[in-house]
Amino acid sequence: MARTGTEELRRRNRAALLEQLHRHGPQTRAELTEALGLNRSTIGALATDLAESGHLQETTGRSTGSAGRPSTLVECVPKAATVAAVEIRARSVRFALVGLGGEVLERTESGLDEDADPMDAVAVITGGTAAEAIEAVAAVPGLVDAGVVAHSTELGWAGRDASADLEAATGREWRVVDTATAAAVGEWSRGDAHESTKLLYLHGGRGLTAGLVIEGRAQRGGSIQLGHIVVKPGGLECACGLLGCLEAEMEAFAYTEDIEHATAAAGLGDAAARDRLRRAGQDLGRALGAVVTATGPDEILFGGWLRELYLSAAAPVRSALAETTLPHLRSKLRLRTPVLGEEGPLIGAAEAGFAAVIDRMR
Ligand SMILES: [Zn+2]
Repeated sequence: MARTGTEELRRRNRAALLEQLHRHGPQTRAELTEALGLNRSTIGALATDLAESGHLQETTGRSTGSAGRPSTLVECVPKAATVAAVEIRARSVRFALVGLGGEVLERTESGLDEDADPMDAVAVITGGTAAEAIEAVAAVPGLVDAGVVAHSTELGWAGRDASADLEAATGREWRVVDTATAAAVGEWSRGDAHESTKLLYLHGGRGLTAGLVIEGRAQRGGSIQLGHIVVKPGGLECACGLLGCLEAEMEAFAYTEDIEHATAAAGLGDAAARDRLRRAGQDLGRALGAVVTATGPDEILFGGWLRELYLSAAAPVRSALAETTLPHLRSKLRLRTPVLGEEGPLIGAAEAGFAAVIDRMR
């Protein structure tokens, strides 16, 4: 029994060490000792272990302190574990092969014809690389649950088993997360949102989706159909069949095409453009009120074209949110734009894969 306990502890510490290096980059043994709260000899034994399994290597690195003697750094071996990440959009597929430690080893993007099936494009763009990766994760804009895309305005999918279709197209297993959730994982692990406990990411594409991650982890049920929250009962007809959905009232499709034009015109004093952005900001704030009340996030990031909208209409978004949420829910709430921008979903998809890899080691 005692032996099993020791082995379990060793496994857990080994995973923690690898996670520390994967997330924070090369470090000295002394820095690792401090960061993980383990003693020096334990760190030494774990590092030796992980070097033997090929995950880590020690290199002569940066000079520390005034003595100027270069210290030995422990770092991940990128090719020891790779994750294939793809982001599927209406008219393009993007692919990155990411190594342990976060280094992007390969990156490609391919345009999609209107009637092409993105799954075929994924098979082409990932080629043989996906088969070698230890995990493969796809970010898809829409409402995703357990690999199935229940609804995607952007892709026109309803109830599509994306993970099964990706497996059929590429011959390997895939995890599927929604684009907003992937971006949230990315911002938490590689952006500057790592202090957020409950991070809500809003993604504006041809539809509007949201993802809630808790301590940087994708949750089942965390994919939110932001665009189909009804903000005006009996309002404009939405493509989903309901009346007055946020997507329809905000003219989401039109904004995808010309958000830059709309914000530029508003900036130059065009009254109609200003009014349009103000109303869109109000509608978004109201829908957000419902989401905040239901989920209680501590940080909200505005991604995709919602970034531009938020930058030009932060005041109406905030006042509509204030009218629709309780004070204690918004007192600690931070609203801002993501630092990884367009790269967020792809980076986050890869990080969701690494979270699974490291979890399996525990
Ligand atoms: Zn709708």
